[in-house]
Amino acid sequence: MIRYECDKCGKSLAANDRQRYIVKMEIFAAADHVDLDVEAVADPKLEMAKVLSQLAAADPDEIEDQTYRAFRYDLCDDCRRTFLRNPLG
Ligand SMILES: [Zn+2]
Repeated sequence: MIRYECDKCGKSLAANDRQRYIVKMEIFAAADHVDLDVEAVADPKLEMAKVLSQLAAADPDEIEDQTYRAFRYDLCDDCRRTFLRNPLG
């Protein structure tokens, strides 16, 4: 039997436990995309090469952190109530 534990307090929970709740959170950049005004850039190819060079040198985890992250937590009923009172802690 699969067992879970509350990610907040550590209480043991069964898979279909009525006291087990799942919290899913996503955090992502509010801006859809960055506009690059090609006509305002003196050398668009050079500018694109700079951007690609910066991306190649960047830490992939840091790029992901800046764009999208998803989290999933199991909570017991007591911790669910606490979470709902103040989700941002
Ligand atoms: Zn708990």
